[in-house]
Amino acid sequence: MKNRKVVMTFPPHLIDEPVTYRLIKDYDLRINILKARVVPREEGRLVIELGGKVEALKKAETYLADLGITMEPLVREIAFLEDKCVHCTACIPICPTKALSLDRKRMLVSFQNEKCIICGLCVPVCPYRAMDMLHTDDK
Ligand code: SF4
Ligand code: SF4
Repeated sequence: MKNRKVVMTFPPHLIDEPVTYRLIKDYDLRINILKARVVPREEGRLVIELGGKVEALKKAETYLADLGITMEPLVREIAFLEDKCVHCTACIPICPTKALSLDRKRMLVSFQNEKCIICGLCVPVCPYRAMDMLHTDDK
């Protein structure tokens, strides 16, 4: 048995697909949804823990890839390193949940951890390495 924490990204046309139901029923996986962002007609993201037999997890991964759903390892934590941030705003448009936002009066970027779905998109975008992440090891 193995557990994996991953970020699943759904194209907009798959938002209504009963994907988690199929993972449980067809692949006998245990599912624990840790965070979700699903908005009609937009790309959806689930932060999810999958548990099951190694072979079943591999087959489920193929099933998801065939559907067009991408899966990336979950990062354990996103840290906003304020002392490195120069408030250039490059990360603002990439953040799907507005966890990174701009105070337009003061032209300062801030981070709200409770809105962050740990998708990791902001990390490669920041030229100053002000967004940092730690990966979980597969258990
Ligand atoms: S990881 Fe970065 S881009 Fe993703 S939700 Fe959190 S702050 Fe936004
Ligand atoms: S891209 Fe980096 S330096 Fe620029 S505002 Fe975002 S966190 Fe700060």
